[in-house]
Amino acid sequence: MNQHLRPEPVPFIDIAAQRRRLGKSIDEAVSRVLGHCQFINGPEVAQLEAQLAAFSGAKHVVTCASGTDALLMVLMAKGVGHGDAVLCPSFTFCATGEAVALTGATPVFVDVDEATFNIDANSLKRGIASAIKLGLKPRAVIPVDLFGQPADHDAIGAIAEAEGMFVLDDAAQAFGASYKGRRLGAFGLATATSFFPAKPLGGFGDGGAIFTDDAQLAETLRSIRVHGQGSDKYDNVRLGLTGRLDTMQAAILIEKLKIFEDEIAARNKVAERYARGLGNVVTVPRVGGGCTSVWAQYTIRLPKGCDRDGFATALQVQGVPTAIYYPKSMHQQTAYRDFPVADGGLPASETLSCDVISLPMHAYLDEPTQERVIKAVRGAISG
Ligand SMILES: *Cc1c(COP(=O)(O)O)cnc(C)c1O
Repeated sequence: MNQHLRPEPVPFIDIAAQRRRLGKSIDEAVSRVLGHCQFINGPEVAQLEAQLAAFSGAKHVVTCASGTDALLMVLMAKGVGHGDAVLCPSFTFCATGEAVALTGATPVFVDVDEATFNIDANSLKRGIASAIKLGLKPRAVIPVDLFGQPADHDAIGAIAEAEGMFVLDDAAQAFGASYKGRRLGAFGLATATSFFPAKPLGGFGDGGAIFTDDAQLAETLRSIRVHGQGSDKYDNVRLGLTGRLDTMQAAILIEKLKIFEDEIAARNKVAERYARGLGNVVTVPRVGGGCTSVWAQYTIRLPKGCDRDGFATALQVQGVPTAIYYPKSMHQQTAYRDFPVADGGLPASETLSCDVISLPMHAYLDEPTQERVIKAVRGAISG
């Protein structure tokens, strides 16, 4: 075969295209930090927090070292631990349940809705009953806004309130999306997000943030972020972490936040083109009523009987990369398989793990390149 006749591979996420667009402003932002040398807690950190608060509508924003720390810090601040149950969907990135297990609490895995990929309210109710039967105290639920789309926050919030549980929203994939006209960051007690480079708002390294309207919680989180520091720097009043966001990442994120709205609009155009081009051959994602998505992933479901590995290989040959999020739900993974699951099992999570596949998605996916992806998908399905 003539290798050089093969088309240029399509990038799965084109961070380089964004870098070209932002090149000079990012370089200058980094240079400013190199100039003032306040690498920890420099002025950019507070600036970014204020801008994220304005963007999301949350009263308080506490940046931190990663999305995983964002989840963990809220659970620590609320004293979640041994004997507590925290309910979370099984079809998610492992950090959701990992943060729970790290506190000593028990993650109780709940099923998702096949159409939206997000936590299923009825399974959540069954999961709460399962936790109580096991002698655990249901303390919190962590809905995940998977692939960029908000969970059903009204339904989840109502169940949590009735049970005296708090809601910690895992918006690591969905910062910038909205539910019933309000941006994520405004739902539940607190919202966690991640600035991992591949997330919709990503830095050039690890980072995260917590959003809350609760001033007391924000203060506790600021203490946990620095080893549980009290008002006297050398009298630590609680356990904490080295949980800070680097000044350098804050400076970079300030520049990226300036174009984020525009990138969200571009991602939505890409999603619309996919839906038009593929809606009649595969199951394309459905955005729930009242929701907008930031399309962290464009995840399709293959028709019954379609061989997913063969499909991925057929696309690969055409220079089109794919990824599988997630080939195993959390309750199927080695580290988590001994934790409880909601009564009735998690059939939707298990089905999705077998038939989902994600296509290239980013704000810089131009129409001709996307046409190549669409053609490759259609060819692989009919072939
Ligand atoms: C990425 C991600 C996290 C963790 O974020 P990190 O910054 O990588 O620690 C948590 N939950 C979900 C759903 C994620 O996708």
